[in-house]
Amino acid sequence: MASKMIYYFGKSRTDGAGDMKSLLGGKGANLAAMTKIGLPVPSGFTITTEVCVHYYKNGKKFPEGLLTDLNRAITWMEKETGKKFGDVSNPLLVSVRSGARDSMPGMMDTILNLGLNDNTTEGLAEATKNPRFAWDSYRRFIQMYGDVVMGVQKRHENEHEPFEEVMHHLKQEVKVKEDTELTEAHLKELVKRYKALIRERTGKSFPTDPVKQLEGAISAVFGSWMNERAILYRQKYRIPDEWGTAVNVQSMVFGNMGDDCATGVAFTRDPATGENVFYGEYLVNAQGEDVVAGVRTPLKIADMAHDKIIGPAYKELVEVRKILEKNFGDVQDFEFTIEKKKLYMLQTRNGKRTALAYVKIAHDMVKEKLMTPEHAVRSGDPEALNQLLQPIFDTDAYAKAKKEGRLMAVGLPAGPGAASGAVVFTAAKAEQLAAKGQPVVLARIETSPEDLRGMIAADGILTARGGVSSHAALVARQMGKVCVAGAGDVEIDYHKGTLKCKGVTLREGDPISINGSTGEVFHGKIATADSELKQVLVSKKMKPADSKVFQYYNFIMKLADGYRKLGLRTNADQPDQVANAIAFGAEGIGLCRTEHMFFEGDRIIAVRQMILAQEESDRKKALAKLLPYQQKDFEGIFRALDGRPACIRLLDPPLHEFLPQSDNKKGQEEVAKQLRISVEEVTKLVHELHEFNPMLGFRGCRLGIVRPEISEMQARAIFQAAAAVLKDGIKVKPEIMVPLVGFKKELDLQVEIIHRVAGEVMKETGKKFPYSVGTMIEVPRGALTADEIAETAEFFSFGTNDLTQTCLGMSRDDSNSFLPAYQGLEIVKANPFASIDTTGVGQLMKIGVEKGRSKRPELKIGICGEHGGDPSSVMFCHTAGLDYVSCSPFRVPIARLAAAQAALREQAAASKATVKKVAAKKKPSAKVSKTKSPATKSRRG
Ligand code: ADP
Ligand code: MG
Ligand code: MG
Repeated sequence: MASKMIYYFGKSRTDGAGDMKSLLGGKGANLAAMTKIGLPVPSGFTITTEVCVHYYKNGKKFPEGLLTDLNRAITWMEKETGKKFGDVSNPLLVSVRSGARDSMPGMMDTILNLGLNDNTTEGLAEATKNPRFAWDSYRRFIQMYGDVVMGVQKRHENEHEPFEEVMHHLKQEVKVKEDTELTEAHLKELVKRYKALIRERTGKSFPTDPVKQLEGAISAVFGSWMNERAILYRQKYRIPDEWGTAVNVQSMVFGNMGDDCATGVAFTRDPATGENVFYGEYLVNAQGEDVVAGVRTPLKIADMAHDKIIGPAYKELVEVRKILEKNFGDVQDFEFTIEKKKLYMLQTRNGKRTALAYVKIAHDMVKEKLMTPEHAVRSGDPEALNQLLQPIFDTDAYAKAKKEGRLMAVGLPAGPGAASGAVVFTAAKAEQLAAKGQPVVLARIETSPEDLRGMIAADGILTARGGVSSHAALVARQMGKVCVAGAGDVEIDYHKGTLKCKGVTLREGDPISINGSTGEVFHGKIATADSELKQVLVSKKMKPADSKVFQYYNFIMKLADGYRKLGLRTNADQPDQVANAIAFGAEGIGLCRTEHMFFEGDRIIAVRQMILAQEESDRKKALAKLLPYQQKDFEGIFRALDGRPACIRLLDPPLHEFLPQSDNKKGQEEVAKQLRISVEEVTKLVHELHEFNPMLGFRGCRLGIVRPEISEMQARAIFQAAAAVLKDGIKVKPEIMVPLVGFKKELDLQVEIIHRVAGEVMKETGKKFPYSVGTMIEVPRGALTADEIAETAEFFSFGTNDLTQTCLGMSRDDSNSFLPAYQGLEIVKANPFASIDTTGVGQLMKIGVEKGRSKRPELKIGICGEHGGDPSSVMFCHTAGLDYVSCSPFRVPIARLAAAQAALREQAAASKATVKKVAAKKKPSAKVSKTKSPATKSRRG
């Protein structure tokens, strides 16, 4: 490996910086950043993510030279700390910490107290005058090391954790209850037994050489990048496997040396509600994961102010809170330890937050000038905006439940919204019931990363133990799950399968309801109602002025609009859908599917008549019946649009979808009667229309070409509606879209009809209306011959559902049998029907854009497939130079934010490129290319 492998952070020197997250991982970059701004960070160094990538590419081997660099780094740390690695009298101890580019809380492994062995432990005992502490640290280290590095774990699910088992036996032998009652002598014995356990299980001895310990720990942290839960987590959050993790080696500080020590986790603001309050928890005399694990219920951070011994450190923390927000420009989630009254900062990162907290914090911090508007827009998770549409309890049902005394307990509000469903106690059960479509609330004493699957499946999460920074709360916030954490009165018994509280006993499957905004837990079901946002924008039951949530949301959306370049449209075919989409920010219709209108009421009878008619006169009669219906529909849509453009697609699906199949005898009889033919005849006709592969069959423009009267009727309905609405002084902008075009001639034939009908209608009504005609690009041939097609088409819209099916040769509806396996094997990175396959389908789109505009530079191009509401696809559409994206009404806010982020990302990349150019000019040395900014390597940073 040519590039620098290790970056230092410390008093004498700090190599990294906050913007080097892809190289140093989030933790490493921010440790460097905090050191630079003078916060008290124990010194250490970061091994880059590139080393991890190299490690995996080369059969899990360290790159050449790493061990030499490692030795040098250790020597440097010894100088920094005045301690010596492996030294008997004053040993340097370190933590070995994972840290990926994006934080993956609790998914990978961390090892504390590394450097201890029989000798250094004596040294530590001597140096601290606290032998019990030294031996306790040692036994913790062996336990962690044995588990993580040497693989001494439970061999099957029902086994106890092996080290815990050993400790449990010892405690029984010496008749003590709590860990804290174990004496120095007991701990020495425990160390002996732990070592024996390791030897018995692995056939190897516990390594005494600190350097060997360190090498093992580094390998193990790299290894944890590929553990099952880390992989699952990355799949969920679409973090690529290639990123790898960095490793941070940092000198230890101790929160467990006595009552003048503590460890804790805090947020600079409330990550659930966004309130501007200092928010966090701590434990006195504790180390590391104790707070996060939720084993001991921690104290609220504000309580620290009153602690006689460590009270002064609280004042420092309050100061740190301000410094962090000012320097990082966002809410920080940080970890600290107090050793002998002295505060140390161990980590900071942008706090994961609920969507509600996101909009509130962004709103507040922009106003307070702590956050830039760009960051406010950039830092939101578009997908998470869905949370703002999540239900709350129905007001009446909620009041009734309270009156009936169904409130069982109150825990911490850890994930806003309301959930009501069957209570379950295991992740497996949650998954099982959810798969059947049943809403479930997963109740656990506390959650651990093993519960992730169940948490994904559940509507709500309830824990009996653990605080606001417990695993459950953390994950719920990130996933946008309704969550009540640490409801201490609730007693959960996994063996009996019961949840007890205040004399009420619930068994698995019984209904339970939780309010993640207040922390309340109710037994029984409580009906839910629309979120505030929906009440303001959709049902209009609430005024904008009465909803803070709406105001914060609106503030962010308006900010986003300031950056957004892509237009926003919606896929809608009913006036009320259009109205909703406009309320969410849509600027027109990107796809109006006319066939949905064919199914309404008894129109389907006329549709069938039209399809099966053998005589021209019958067909005309049927079409004449349909015309007024369609016209009415379009009028309603034009009115709802109020002058905004409407892209209307001509009939697309295969005709047999409209026909009464053999299991619908009544339908067949009805058609037979109207067409004056026998039922047998109808059955025969239906049979004739059957296709082996309808997706590639008689559909799209092929229908209108073989049966031009259908296109004619539809064009007439659209134009007559336009004329009618225009008469009322409402502007109209119909865009008529011909589907599934692969040959220019196909489009030509349809356009001819459309123009003719437009002329006729204008003459008949005496109204002139603007309109345009274009096509959907949704088969590869259409994209490849886009230059020819653009001679006729005035606009393109990428139908990426069909384009994906035809480009990949995969039927969307049949892909479930193999796609999950493909995703597991990483043949595809994401489901190509949810997120555009940018290399394949995306290439066709780029060709389409380029060729289309080569003939017609002003060609308007959009996308109307399902992908139009997927944030990463929106990003792609932006870079591909599309004019707009179109998605379903409720995804419009998501696309709106994603489109703004795409524009910002492009801006950032452009300015980085100019900076690089300038730098390259100034210093033409090799150094520039060597220290290439990692962020420019992948645009996803
Ligand atoms: P995670 O990424 O899972 O949060 P960390 O690397 O942050 O893992 O380590 C977990 C915990 O271990 C930290 O929150 C901190 O309490 C403790 N820890 C890590 N490094 C040190 C250190 N150098 N000194 C004291 N405690 C440490
Ligand atoms: Mg941490
Ligand atoms: Mg299509």
